[in-house]
Amino acid sequence: MTETVDFLSSPTQRTAAALLSRSFAYDADVLPISYDGVFVTVAVALESVELIDRIRQVTRKEVRTVLLPVREIREGLKALYPAAIVRDADSQAAVTLDEIFASAIGNYASDVHIEPLDGRAGRVRLDVDGMLQPDRALEAGLFERVVSLVKVRSNMNTGESRLPQDGRLTVTFDGRTFDVRTSTIPVGGLEKVVLRFLQRFDLVPDLEQLGMGNELLARYQRALKRPGSFCVIAGPTGSGKSTTAYASLQTISLEATNVCSVEDPIECRIPGVAQIAVNEKAGMTFPVSLRALLRQNPHQLFIGELRDAETVAIALQASLTGISLVTTLHARDALRVTARLAELGANRSTLGSSLTLAVSQRLVRTLCRRCKIKTSISSQALAVGRRYGCALGIEAWDAQGCEACAYTGFQGRIGAFEVLEVKPELAAAIERGDTPTQLGKLAFGVGYKPMVVDALRHVASGATSEGEVLRHLTYDDAE
Ligand SMILES: [Zn+2]
Repeated sequence: MTETVDFLSSPTQRTAAALLSRSFAYDADVLPISYDGVFVTVAVALESVELIDRIRQVTRKEVRTVLLPVREIREGLKALYPAAIVRDADSQAAVTLDEIFASAIGNYASDVHIEPLDGRAGRVRLDVDGMLQPDRALEAGLFERVVSLVKVRSNMNTGESRLPQDGRLTVTFDGRTFDVRTSTIPVGGLEKVVLRFLQRFDLVPDLEQLGMGNELLARYQRALKRPGSFCVIAGPTGSGKSTTAYASLQTISLEATNVCSVEDPIECRIPGVAQIAVNEKAGMTFPVSLRALLRQNPHQLFIGELRDAETVAIALQASLTGISLVTTLHARDALRVTARLAELGANRSTLGSSLTLAVSQRLVRTLCRRCKIKTSISSQALAVGRRYGCALGIEAWDAQGCEACAYTGFQGRIGAFEVLEVKPELAAAIERGDTPTQLGKLAFGVGYKPMVVDALRHVASGATSEGEVLRHLTYDDAE
């Protein structure tokens, strides 16, 4: 950081500044620092291959980067381009985008949807606890400028609006920096933009905070710590499996010595873990990164997601050589993990002998404590509870709505989990190719309980309502 101060306003910095246009520097948050005749050195807040490519194109020079907080980059830009006059329309879009970010952060939104509406106007909606709520309307003109600004800040190709694109940007708010993953998709001649807030490592909760019951938590932690274990976290998009994965990784990194990960993208930084980002465009795919990592003899490996046959094959091979693995998988529940992996080409007998545990989850909204009202639990829920030895009272709570919860009746979310431990009986069933239903029957005999039963625990404690649970899960899985 002191380097920048030394460089400020030096002749070499002014030469570097002349290589980059003012608007490019501001839009992309790039601070020119020096130019030595070959290399132009710039400060950036977030390093990406795409951004460096763009700087190389703009300057037609080789590029070196140093990392600086975005706040310091902007201060540096103000000092470097003091006479800058921002055009009104652009500044209106910038102010609006700042307001949208402030609203999203203030409402703890996970995603922001900026989408075309009638004609060329648009609207903004926030995803709060898995429900979309309206934020504001954007008039024609402003809508397109806001979309364009998001694309510029995300290092997307602003000339391309007919193909989907994705990128990243950072937002600084109240002294905190947020990483945001951005994506565009063409919709009726215009573009819809979705901004997803990625968590920062200082916000990764401990495993204990996710809402897992003590018994499940103990079993899960035991499996994670077992040498050579293979744990899969399954669930659909938005079920919170990434958070669980990071909380697991955090637990592991405290104990193991050589922990590595391959992720797409890296959503949070975990101290002590060598994290590698997949970059398909540059040829750094999941399989390529994994093969490179395995040559370095890791003790513990986190694979962001198992989503293709090649990655699954490498993962299983690594597991057979005694490397501990944690990964996520897009599957409905823990019982369907082996079937899904078999679809991705995994050999069932290898699976039976290597899989240690599958965990699956849903995030249910928690009731607003200020306005929740008493109700009673359904007889069906009581029957399910009895079947699985889970004592439920008649009493339950329901959502109402008040000012504190923006009249939704809910605030925050909590996880409902199921854990399938692959004991010898189950390993044999997996090797035989038993269906998820058959696996469920066997697993029931060795302590497995379906997710919906765990969710009823949160109903009994008053954390959530039965209606909310049934938005995600059904009692059929517990029949
Ligand atoms: Zn309320």
